[in-house]
Amino acid sequence: MDWLPRKQFEVLLSSLRARGHRLVGPQVRDGAIVYDSLERADQLPQGLRDAQSPGSYRIESSDNSRWFAWANGPQALKPLTFVPRETLWRARRDDQGTLHFESPGLDEAPLAVIGVRACDLAALRLQEQHFMAGEVAAPNFAARRQRLFLVAVHCTHPADTCFCASTGDGPHAEAGYDLALHELDDGFLVEAGTEAGTALLEELPLQPVPDGAQEKADEEIDQAARSQQRGLPSHDLRGLLFGNLEHPRWEAVAERCLSCGNCTAVCPTCFCHAESDHPTLAGDVTEHVRAWDSCFTAGHSYLAGFVLREDTRKRYRQWLTHKLGGWHDQYGRSGCVGCGRCVTWCPVGIDLTEEVAALQEDGHD
Ligand code: SF4
Ligand code: SF4
Repeated sequence: MDWLPRKQFEVLLSSLRARGHRLVGPQVRDGAIVYDSLERADQLPQGLRDAQSPGSYRIESSDNSRWFAWANGPQALKPLTFVPRETLWRARRDDQGTLHFESPGLDEAPLAVIGVRACDLAALRLQEQHFMAGEVAAPNFAARRQRLFLVAVHCTHPADTCFCASTGDGPHAEAGYDLALHELDDGFLVEAGTEAGTALLEELPLQPVPDGAQEKADEEIDQAARSQQRGLPSHDLRGLLFGNLEHPRWEAVAERCLSCGNCTAVCPTCFCHAESDHPTLAGDVTEHVRAWDSCFTAGHSYLAGFVLREDTRKRYRQWLTHKLGGWHDQYGRSGCVGCGRCVTWCPVGIDLTEEVAALQEDGHD
């Protein structure tokens, strides 16, 4: 473990830039903290905090001078690797009528992301399992992932909607980063998680860790975990959900749910998508496009002339039983990393931890 004084943080940014990385980091845009191009440390959200509750997100001023004293906003790493909409391939017909297939390819600089939280690193590992495991990896996802340099910042200010401690995915980042930082008032405890991170550390003006800094950091992480009020039960969620498919709670939640899909858009692990072809009017070129989809659209369960999940009850049930149940079979764990985004960004404040608790209270275990 080493110490990077706050006034030397710019050296970290310039070293990454010198290695050819484009930088993105947290900034306030449209009233929320999201990733955006980062040129200088003074663009980071200093003196700000977030107030989150079911269906509500606000940025407020604070007297805290740190840059990372807030919890995640709506944007996870997901759109940086699994982009919301992209052309996968293009078909072109030449004058002789022969079809030519081409990949648009990726012409993107390596990306360094500053300020990644533990829950989003866990979510990225799940997305890697989905898009990169098996014989054929999704080429654009894999290329973007391989070009990522991740600078994690341990989370010391979880929101009221966070529950990563109960899923085992935070607030301390344990793996999946190139560098991990713990921000204190005067600087950062810093450690490397990969060879690329170690090589970068050798270029930084690091100092020995000041007395008491590690103890202070450990206490902040403990406090961040203890402060989380929500949680998912650690016992067999898969059995609970699949054992209660006809529970009346699904009807009750469907009366509130708007089927808007916000929860799936902000969820860092949701990977459902739809593919479609877009021919030109002349009919000589067609683009094959992949775009995010959601359990909550009618088209997502359209099969052979029928919409299988024709009502909101079935769509919400599909989302929760897959996320918290079916993922155990597919990926060996729940698909929820406790980031709380679906709770905050649901326009009617539906809280999946409450829904699970209701099933647990009077359902079949
Ligand atoms: S289900 Fe909700 S809390 Fe869990 S990872 Fe997705 S958005 Fe975050
Ligand atoms: S649970 Fe909330 S965010 Fe998700 S579809 Fe229903 S209303 Fe929209």
